Amino acid sequence: MSKKILIIGGVAGGATAAARARRISETADITVVERGPYVSYANCGLPYYLSQDIRKRSALLLQTPEGFDSRYGVKVLVGTEALAIDRATRRVRIKNAAGESWLDYDALILAQGGAPLTPPVPGVDGPNVFRLWTVPDMDRIHEFLESQKPASAVVTGGGFIGLEMAEAFRKRGIATTVVELLPRVMSAMDPEFGSLIAQRLEAHGVRVLTGVGLKAIHAGTREVELEDGRRLPAAVVLLSVGVRPELGLAKQAGLALGETGGLLVDETLRTSDPNIWAAGDMNEIVHKVSGRKVRIPLAGPANRQGRIAASNALGQSLKYRGALASSVVKVFDATAACTGLSEAAARAAGFEVGSATVVRDHHAGYYPGAKELVLKIVYDRKTGRLLGGQAFGEEGADKRIDTLAAALQGKLTLEDLAELDLAYAPPYSSANDPLNVAAFVGLNDITGFSPLVTAAELKGLLAGGADAGGDAERLLVLDVRNLGEYEASHLKGALNIPVDELRFRLDEVPRGRPIVVHCRSGFRSHLALRILKQNGFPEVRNLSGGYLSVLADGGFEREE
Ligand SMILES: Cc1cc2nc3c(=O)[nH]c(=O)nc-3n(C[C@H](O)[C@H](O)[C@H](O)COP(=O)(O)OP(=O)(O)OC[C@H]3O[C@@H](n4cnc5c(N)ncnc54)[C@H](O)[C@@H]3O)c2cc1C
Repeated sequence: MSKKILIIGGVAGGATAAARARRISETADITVVERGPYVSYANCGLPYYLSQDIRKRSALLLQTPEGFDSRYGVKVLVGTEALAIDRATRRVRIKNAAGESWLDYDALILAQGGAPLTPPVPGVDGPNVFRLWTVPDMDRIHEFLESQKPASAVVTGGGFIGLEMAEAFRKRGIATTVVELLPRVMSAMDPEFGSLIAQRLEAHGVRVLTGVGLKAIHAGTREVELEDGRRLPAAVVLLSVGVRPELGLAKQAGLALGETGGLLVDETLRTSDPNIWAAGDMNEIVHKVSGRKVRIPLAGPANRQGRIAASNALGQSLKYRGALASSVVKVFDATAACTGLSEAAARAAGFEVGSATVVRDHHAGYYPGAKELVLKIVYDRKTGRLLGGQAFGEEGADKRIDTLAAALQGKLTLEDLAELDLAYAPPYSSANDPLNVAAFVGLNDITGFSPLVTAAELKGLLAGGADAGGDAERLLVLDVRNLGEYEASHLKGALNIPVDELRFRLDEVPRGRPIVVHCRSGFRSHLALRILKQNGFPEVRNLSGGYLSVLADGGFEREE
C-alpha cells in the first residue's frame, strides 16, 4: 500500500517537502493542504513587486496546483484550511468551498509558518493599514497604491520587511517614515550597523524614528500618533512588527511546544508525536553557534527543514543541526548582512567576546569603483573561535557574510580565517581580503600585539562607569588622524598627533595613563599603537573601526 503523506502549508517548507517526498518515493500518496489561494509562491519577492523592481506578478508564483500535479503527482488543495488533527485515528479535518471533510495520513508534515503580529493600538483595522505576508496582501497594497496614490507612508517596524517596504514606498515617490520601538533598526545587528542602515535610509529620503512606539492610527485624518504625542502623515500604513509561529493546530492536537514558544522538534524534525514532522517558521530550532534554542523565521532554514522532514517522514534519518540566522537586506544602494551571533548576542550567550571592525575597500582601491565596506567579526577571546559577523556597504557585503557563514559552519577560528585562501584579482578583492584583515586584527587583539577596544566599551570608559575602574579622568584618547580630519570632528578632550608625526612628538604623550588611540578606521591607529608600545607605553588600545565606529555608534561627546 502506498504511504499517505499529508502536508499542511504549501509555501517554503511545505512545497519543498512535497517535491522532496516525490523524489524519494514514486509510490507515496502526497497531498498538500494550503489555506491561501496560491501554493509555492515567492513571499520573499513580494516587496520587490511593490517597489516595481519586479514587474511581472506571475514571476512570483513559482508553482501551481496543476504544475505540482503534472510534474510531481502531488495533489494540492488550495483554499483549504486544516482545522484539527486527530492523532489517534491519524486524520486531519479540513474545510474548503466543498465543506468539511477528513484526510487520512500515515505521516503528517506541518509547515504552517507564522503570522505577522499586530500591535495592540487603536486603528490597526483601518482601510489604509496593511500587513505584507501573502500574495493577496501584496495585491491589496498594490491596488491601494495605484488607486489612492498616497503621498505619505508610515512603516512600523524596522526589521527586514519594514526596510524593504520603506524602500518600495520611497521608490514610488511616497514620503516615508519608519517608526521603530527599539533604539535602532535591524536589531539583529549591533548598534553601529543599525545606525549605518538608518543613515543610508535617511540619505535616500526615508525618515527614521527609533525608540518610540505607536499609540494610534487615525484613518480619518490619515495620521499616525506616536507614544510621545507626535503625529505623522500616514496615507498608508504598513505594520511589520514581527512574526509569531502558527501553532493553533499543534496546540489543539496537544503537540509539545519548546521553551521559545515554537513547536518542539527533535533533530530529525519529528514532533512529540512519532507520526508528525514539522518544518519552517513554526519550529523551535538550535542556534548553531550558541547552541541555544531559538526561532529563526527565514526562508533558507524553512526550505532545508522541509527537505529533511519529508525525507524522514519517508523512513530516512537525516539530521537538522540548526541554523546561523544568516540574513541580508538591501538598503537602497547598500547591503546589510549578518551571520551567527552579534556582539550583543554573543555576550548574552556567555562567551568572552572580542570583536574586530575593519573598514576596507571592497576590492583593490586602485581598481575603479572600489566601495567602502564595513566588516565586523565577533569571536571568542578564550578560544579564538569565530562567533559571527556583520557587514555593510555598497558592494561585497553579501560575499563576506556568506564566507563567514561557511566559516561558522566549519567552526573556524581567527587563525583559520587569517589563512583562508580566497580568490583574488583587483576587480574582486584585495590580496588580503577584508575577511583576512579582520582576522589579523582579531588575532592582534587576543595575542595582545594590538589590543582593541570597541566604540561601546570606549563610551563606557569615558562615562567612567563602574566597569571603567575610574579611568574616565586618567584615560587619554589619542587621535592620530591628520589635523584637517581632527578639526572637522573629534572626541571631546582628544589629543591630536598625526601618526606620521608621532615618533617625533612622543614627549607630548603623557606617561602612566591608559591610552585609547584611534584614526578614521583603525589602520593608522594600529601603527600608532605599535609605535607607542615599543616606546614604553604599555597600556594602549586601538579603537576597533576607528572614528567611523564613533560616528556610527552615536552617543559620544564630540567637538566639530
Ligand atoms: C514579505 C516577506 C519577505 C520575506 N523576505 C525574506 C527574505 O528575503 N529572506 C528570508 O530568508 N526570508 C524572508 N521571508 C521569510 C520567509 O518567507 C519565511 O521564513 C518562509 O516562507 C517560512 O516558510 P514556512 O514554510 O515555514 O512558512 P510559509 O512560507 O509562511 O508557509 C506557510 C503556509 O502555511 C499555510 N497554513 C498555515 N496554517 C494552515 C492551515 N491550518 N491550513 C492550511 N494551510 C495553512 C499558510 O497559508 C502559508 O501559506 C520573508 C517573508 C515575507 C512575508
